[in-house]
Amino acid sequence: MANNKNRRSVTLHGRVFLQGNIKTITGLHIGGAAGALEIGGVDSPIIRDPLTNRPFIPGSSLRGKMRSLTERLHGSEQNMRIGKGVFVHICRQKKMSDAEYREMYRNCPVCSVFGVTGDEGVPHPTSLVVRDVYLGDDSAAQLDRAQTDFPYSEIKWEATIDRVTSAAVPRQIERVPAGTLFEGFELAYGIYDASGRDHFATVLKALQLVEEDYLGGLGSRGGGKVEFQITNVYARKGTEYKTEKFEVDGAQPVTDHLVTTINDWVKQTFEDVGD
Ligand SMILES: [Zn+2]
Repeated sequence: MANNKNRRSVTLHGRVFLQGNIKTITGLHIGGAAGALEIGGVDSPIIRDPLTNRPFIPGSSLRGKMRSLTERLHGSEQNMRIGKGVFVHICRQKKMSDAEYREMYRNCPVCSVFGVTGDEGVPHPTSLVVRDVYLGDDSAAQLDRAQTDFPYSEIKWEATIDRVTSAAVPRQIERVPAGTLFEGFELAYGIYDASGRDHFATVLKALQLVEEDYLGGLGSRGGGKVEFQITNVYARKGTEYKTEKFEVDGAQPVTDHLVTTINDWVKQTFEDVGD
């Protein structure tokens, strides 16, 4: 076990927190479970917070989209099956020593940031945590007043056309209307080594990729376009876990300029982190 000794210790040098809002630019449909079975339910319901009945954006949906678009950007090999017909990328290849794997993982923008489920021998825990995002109170009040089809949501009728008979089969799809604000979006990014610090750029790039793609379903039919608004960026650092703030002026869109300035700030803040 002697050569495995350093594997048992991981240093968290700090975390970077990114907070803000997510605004829907077009109708958003993030599917809920089993709602269609309810009497009077729609064919394709959205996910809701069971306590408030308000729609929310699960952190896992956002994170999954960030990951898959990052994989696509880098052309990462889809080599691990995680479910029926669902594959993700991992760096581990069959004939690879642990040392080779660790090196590859650290240098991979996908594995290093988004981690690997249940894999052993990775150099550090998953860096990125993405929290659930809830409907803002102002938007909730606005949707209440608008008396939408369902609480805080609207119904979009879609027709599936039978390829042979050309008969249209109407389907009701529930979605959150365009212009809705989800507040309290938060990403927490742990920095364990120099490569982790340098990979922070991947996180911001992934947000841009999501904006240019879509969240949830109906993307190819116009839905799911969102906009991130960054309101707060700060780091917690070292064993004292001291806070250092990056100044954000109001609610900022994720422009190339903001991405560059935040990246530079992260590099500077954690410049003393070694390998
Ligand atoms: Zn990888």
